[in-house]
Amino acid sequence: MRVLLVEDDEPVAESLRRGLTRYGFEVEWVTTGGAALSHEGPYDVVLLDLGLPDTDGLDVCKALRGRSDVPIIVISARSDETDRVVGLELGADDYVSKPFGVREVIARIRAVMRRVQPRTSSAAENTPDRYGDRLTVDRKAARVHLDGEEVSLAPKEYDLLAFLTEEPGALMSREQIMEAVWDANWFGPTKTLDVHVAALRRKLAGAITIEAVRGVGFRLVVSEGQDGAAS
Ligand code: CA
Repeated sequence: MRVLLVEDDEPVAESLRRGLTRYGFEVEWVTTGGAALSHEGPYDVVLLDLGLPDTDGLDVCKALRGRSDVPIIVISARSDETDRVVGLELGADDYVSKPFGVREVIARIRAVMRRVQPRTSSAAENTPDRYGDRLTVDRKAARVHLDGEEVSLAPKEYDLLAFLTEEPGALMSREQIMEAVWDANWFGPTKTLDVHVAALRRKLAGAITIEAVRGVGFRLVVSEGQDGAAS
């Protein structure tokens, strides 16, 4: 999926670009309203900052909507309710306030895309993802089952598991994980990550292993069952 990211704040844009790319999105990044409007695309969704150097993002929103039905998600530091309402009235499909995490933005993109693209393969999409023969993650319902029993996870424990299971076996750095699960602009200590990893190890013991790679990060490994029923 191709994303047109319109954002003049470089750290925010870089962080979003990295995060989205990691999740398989292709990101075209522009820093002005003018560049957004002259971008020829194609793109599937627009992430639009309101505070742009050359023009008000709301005008960009209006102009984009005037010529296409492309989904537009406003990303803004303006928490003013008026901006939110005006943005939506001008045709934006959703609104995310800064600061936000990459996962939140991805969730909004997926939700918007689900609304605009009537699903064709609903049965397949409703099937929980299976990891080995013991663990399933239902990303739509945000529920996790171990041996058929629902596992009670704290919200961030679920987010962390959902992130690590996107790519089993891949080594994720602490920074990548913090950025994706906690905050797009995380610069602080990462002790909370260790606490959540410990909780997942305890709650999902035997089904998955979360390997620590010293000085780098973590890698989730799915434990294979004796019957090899993993998919
Ligand atoms: Ca800005």
